[in-house]
Amino acid sequence: MSIQREIQKRRWRQLLLLAIVLPALTLFVSHELGLHVFHLPKAGVFSLAFLFVCGGAILTASNWRCPVCRTYLGGSINPERCRGCGRRLRGVGD
Ligand SMILES: [Zn+2]
Repeated sequence: MSIQREIQKRRWRQLLLLAIVLPALTLFVSHELGLHVFHLPKAGVFSLAFLFVCGGAILTASNWRCPVCRTYLGGSINPERCRGCGRRLRGVGD
């Protein structure tokens, strides 16, 4: 599998992770602002958001790495090159 294809697979995983974590964070913030959408207890909302954010951080630390040298790729969702080994991560069509 090419580096570009592997990084594309990892990018999709990151986007899926964001799609899971972001609603939990939105629920927490809306609850803190007094918008009790689902009428959940405060401790439950906090625990849920904490669990999702921590899980997301752990999964990101594991997934979002260069397929060649395993260097963490940072905050960009579409890095051009790896900061560790310098390999090109974007395909020609990206
Ligand atoms: Zn690398």
